[in-house]
Amino acid sequence: MRIHQNHIAKDLVPNVMFVDMNSFFATCEQQVNYYLRNRAVAVCVYPGKYGCVIAPSIEAKKKGIKLGMRLNEAMKICPDLIPLETHPNRYREFHKQIMNVLRKYSDDVIPKSIDEAMINFASYKLVHKDLLEVANNIKADIRNEVGDYLKCSIGIAPNSFLAKLGSDIQKPDGLTVISPENIDEVLSKLSLTDLPGIAKAMAIKLKLAGIETPLQLRHTPAEKLKSACHSIVGMYWHYRLNFSEVDFSTSDYKSMQAMRQISASQRRNIKLLDDLLVSLCATLEKRMVKQDIYAKDIIFSARYENGKDYKEHINCEKNPVQDAMKMMQYIKNRMEVFQKVNHCEPVINTNLVMMGVNLCNFIPACALQYDMFENNVQHHHLRKTMYDIKKKFGNDSIIKAAELHEVEVYRDAIGFGSVKHLY
Ligand SMILES: [Mg+2]
Repeated sequence: MRIHQNHIAKDLVPNVMFVDMNSFFATCEQQVNYYLRNRAVAVCVYPGKYGCVIAPSIEAKKKGIKLGMRLNEAMKICPDLIPLETHPNRYREFHKQIMNVLRKYSDDVIPKSIDEAMINFASYKLVHKDLLEVANNIKADIRNEVGDYLKCSIGIAPNSFLAKLGSDIQKPDGLTVISPENIDEVLSKLSLTDLPGIAKAMAIKLKLAGIETPLQLRHTPAEKLKSACHSIVGMYWHYRLNFSEVDFSTSDYKSMQAMRQISASQRRNIKLLDDLLVSLCATLEKRMVKQDIYAKDIIFSARYENGKDYKEHINCEKNPVQDAMKMMQYIKNRMEVFQKVNHCEPVINTNLVMMGVNLCNFIPACALQYDMFENNVQHHHLRKTMYDIKKKFGNDSIIKAAELHEVEVYRDAIGFGSVKHLY
């Protein structure tokens, strides 16, 4: 999650909506199979004895079935539970249709996962005067146009965090507005770990500092929270609960850049220059993985001793990139074409004084085109897992084979870039 710079700016009007489908996978199954409706069903990774429940239906939840239970335990609690296999294509199809409903009301729809989306109504103040009415229309449209058994909980608030919190408050089929008028009342009914993002460890830290409840959290000064959490993260909790937008929003993330000045001694070594380009791409890959986004445009630029520039704009709309090696491939292919067409010396040559890669036009990973998603999903998870491990054990713990020969350069490039990308 990226933190905005402008968390000081506040807009107290509740114009962010968070839509969370209730028991999504199970409800999709109940939508297509009438027999399953009003019954306790559980979608499982595999429906064998030790299969894991990944989505209990609303009815199953009422009987105590929880996400992550083994099927044999679940059957003990609820003997008439109906276990089902997953149908990912089915869920994706419903997801697409639901997103289409949401996009009727705003262009600024950000899918957060297969069953959640955030909608920004900031630029629709004159179009939609009453977001409660919009929320009810969305619920009705989903029922009428997508599936009559599908239910969602909707939260409306001045920022995305509180909108999500609002969607958690009433399940199923909820609708909650959190505004300056009612926030204290809403928070007074919650415990710290009810807030999305506050886990047990964090709650303990806060309690040690005398902050026992979300209400106290909201009314504790940002600086005090910073010291309680031993981190700037503490301040963000103050901002979130006081209506500032501090959470990442893709539509705000316009571009990212990695660039290098090249010293006289560096530019003599062509191999090193190649490695530098790899490291620039790897830096950008790392940032994109962190944000869970892909880029649709790559701009490569180079400057030479004589002051001349080289620039390539590569649009990869049909196949957005996150992988450093893929980025490299796109850039190298373009260079080769340029060299052939112009019968000139290689773009990467000993006169280089600067090299940069710029990315823009991002899309969240979960919004990738679905056919593409299919092919990339494995790679995507691999990349994420790799970075999680790196984060835990240090950067040297895993290095992709393709990066092995430029370990030194790669290390050098980490953390390089403009300040706004530091994390
Ligand atoms: Mg859900």
